[in-house]
Amino acid sequence: MTNTRKKLTLPEARKLFATERAALNFFINAFFGGKDKIHCTRCGSTNINLKAKHPTMPWRCRDCRKHFSIRTNTVMERSKLPLTEWAEMLFTMSSELRSRPAKKVMNDFGHTYKTAWHMNHRIRTAFANNNAGLGKFKGTVEIDETAIGGKAKFMSPKTKRNFKERGGGTGWGGKVILAAAKERETGKIVPKVIQARDKETLQGLVYATTLPGATVMTDEARGYKGMTNREHLAVNHSAKKYVDGQAHVAGVESFWSTFKHGISGSFYKISPKHTELYAQEFAGRQNDRNEDTFEQMDKLAKGMRGVKLPYNVLIADRGLDNFARPIGGSIKEQILFTRKKIRALKAAEKTKGLDALYKELKELKKLDAEEKAAYVQEQQPKVDPLPDDEIPF
Ligand SMILES: [Zn+2]
Repeated sequence: MTNTRKKLTLPEARKLFATERAALNFFINAFFGGKDKIHCTRCGSTNINLKAKHPTMPWRCRDCRKHFSIRTNTVMERSKLPLTEWAEMLFTMSSELRSRPAKKVMNDFGHTYKTAWHMNHRIRTAFANNNAGLGKFKGTVEIDETAIGGKAKFMSPKTKRNFKERGGGTGWGGKVILAAAKERETGKIVPKVIQARDKETLQGLVYATTLPGATVMTDEARGYKGMTNREHLAVNHSAKKYVDGQAHVAGVESFWSTFKHGISGSFYKISPKHTELYAQEFAGRQNDRNEDTFEQMDKLAKGMRGVKLPYNVLIADRGLDNFARPIGGSIKEQILFTRKKIRALKAAEKTKGLDALYKELKELKKLDAEEKAAYVQEQQPKVDPLPDDEIPF
């Protein structure tokens, strides 16, 4: 198949978004489909005053009487960066083969590292949003997992020590487990960081990414056995042969290769905490790789809507269990979390009975202690002034 997609060069793109007004028009078209279709992001009303008096929000909804702007309810909310730069970021992030490290963004735009890094992650959030919008896959779906990080020879002595203490080595221990599902028919791919390779997690992943009736091809992990409403074909990696003639996960494996080469080519290292965001970026780019450059930018712009990534959320300690639980956090957060936990326990006691619940909790406590120890290791105070422990070239 020949690739006939229309590409834009950087100078061409820059001409297209040369002024704030031009960039604004690009975002208006992407978000609303035209200036005459601008509507309130809160109530949807089209009764809008486009020349309201407000220093940063020039639009006002006459129905809910709230001011808003092109940035409201998008990853650009509260950002003071020019729209021209956001548009250029969309161009480079969607058309570059690998990625655009924050260090480069910092130099190109003359921002602080923190600003550039935050900007990058907000674009990655847009990719993630689009990937989430793909919905569940049908037909034949490949699902595979890989371990990210943990080449001990590239680690500083401290990191290496922490890694070893977390159970790191040549296997899965101490590493971030990245999984991905790929729909054969469309070639679309969606990554997800998972906490374990047990039955609950792996089958949960299958049910979350595929529709009933799908044929799921996976590796030989035992956790996949016994799925409902899915045909399951397993590849036997260790025996270097296929259990079934047509079962393979080569599509996802080629994504691992692109992702890992991209990461090692563009970044010195990435933080385990943000692995999924990076993977979402690479997957999102791959999902739209056959589109015209302008289409890619337009899609990525659309992904910016309805999601936010304030800086304090981005750097928040999200623990090791895939951001699901606040470990640390503010006192108020901890109190709220404890209350929620107590309510859940009371409910569980009613349904499961006290003995079963006690046994379960004991197990959990053991896991918790291990996790917490690993977490404390991760959170050693850093002397690095950078906002995170990732340092690009
Ligand atoms: Zn409104």
